[in-house]
Amino acid sequence: MAKLTFSIGGIHPADSKLARDRKIEVLPLPPKVYVSMFQHLGAQAKPIVAPGDKVKAGQIIAEPGGFISAYVHSPVSGTVKSVAPRKDLAGYNVMHVEIDVEGDEWAEGIDLSPELVTAIPEDREFILDRIKMNGVVGLGGATFPTHVKLNPPPGKKADCLILNGAECEPYLTSDFRILLERTDEIVVGAAVMQKVLGDCPCVIGIEENKPEAIAAVRASVARLAYPGIRVEVLKKRYPQGGEKQLIDAVMHRQVRSGGLPIDVGAVVQNVATSLAVYEAVQKNKPLVTNTLTVTGDCLPVERQHNYLFRIGMPLSYIAEQAGGVPEGAVKMVSGGPMMGKAIANLDAATVKGSSSILYLSDATRRKPEGPCIRCGRCADACPMGLEPFLLRKLYAAGDAVALEKNAVHDCIECGCCLYSCPANIPLLDNIRLAKAQVMGIIRARNAKK
Ligand code: SF4
Ligand code: SF4
Repeated sequence: MAKLTFSIGGIHPADSKLARDRKIEVLPLPPKVYVSMFQHLGAQAKPIVAPGDKVKAGQIIAEPGGFISAYVHSPVSGTVKSVAPRKDLAGYNVMHVEIDVEGDEWAEGIDLSPELVTAIPEDREFILDRIKMNGVVGLGGATFPTHVKLNPPPGKKADCLILNGAECEPYLTSDFRILLERTDEIVVGAAVMQKVLGDCPCVIGIEENKPEAIAAVRASVARLAYPGIRVEVLKKRYPQGGEKQLIDAVMHRQVRSGGLPIDVGAVVQNVATSLAVYEAVQKNKPLVTNTLTVTGDCLPVERQHNYLFRIGMPLSYIAEQAGGVPEGAVKMVSGGPMMGKAIANLDAATVKGSSSILYLSDATRRKPEGPCIRCGRCADACPMGLEPFLLRKLYAAGDAVALEKNAVHDCIECGCCLYSCPANIPLLDNIRLAKAQVMGIIRARNAKK
């Protein structure tokens, strides 16, 4: 069987899927949750509760703050203690709703039964409304509101829905576990999204290093027998799960610089998003839970975990449940080691898109930086065809015009350049800043049009 992959660049970091055999455990409720109003791409949500209000799990507590935004729901039942700014993961002040947890009573109309609901609603608007009202956002990293992504603008049509089950980042195993443990729900979620996209075909792409997941999903696809869904095996190669890389691998189509997947007829959703779509549409359950991995090279196997968490649980609470910060951890990351963000504040609350607490030891610390030896390895590794050494130079020179000309805005921040550089030059850090600068210029220019 041919294994699909993308055309240019990429690297092969060690797998380090240390928590792959650990079944998903349900975390007990903490005494308090802190629900962020900024859990999605776009405008912050606007809180509609006040201190003293009683809330139930699954109840709306914040409305979208714009077209690109999302509803936010209470993950627990209890009393609103405060609506106030609180530091997020990176240490920025963001509005949060603080809730004292009192039991676990759910709002009316949510189906919490374990029965699989396989009949797909016919009404496209009903599906989109359920996805929107239940606050579903992309769980593959970008947290783009799903009802917007599944509703292409006039004149654009989806030829293929790609479900991303690559989980190509080292260490992370939450997608692998849901592919094994929530298989049917993910496949039904895919069929729901196919319906909303005009019954387009669906490819579920899974990397070759997850043979159990490939077998489980193939069996589920055959059993449920929805038309037009197939599983494809992807080569183990980073960043195989990147949106543009998956489209290249599966459809052999290239998204142009500055373009969107729908421009080439593609819609890409993560497998965790498919599960959230299933729950939202078939069970009317809002997105208030997700799965994350607690892992790292300084944790023994028995302390590696995959947890079902309620959104708003403080990271420090989850770390405690997993036995505390391990000895030897010099860095904590939310997300994978390639694209994740350093945790500056362990008291920060989990959000819809939280995927891990990753503890890294001294062995993973960056080596001292040396001079560029012009080896070109960073350019060879770049899956977007960029020249990272040049972008860095242009950033140092403050040349925003040349940075835009050299498409710094196409950088997907995958870190392949940094990983490949023998001189340990912090290419990604510099390019990220350069990209933010150029994106700001592009946005300002577009706003004037
Ligand atoms: S981080 Fe950006 S520049 Fe570096 S390899 Fe990835 S896409 Fe290319
Ligand atoms: S990989 Fe590092 S040393 Fe080689 S060209 Fe790129 S920046 Fe220079």
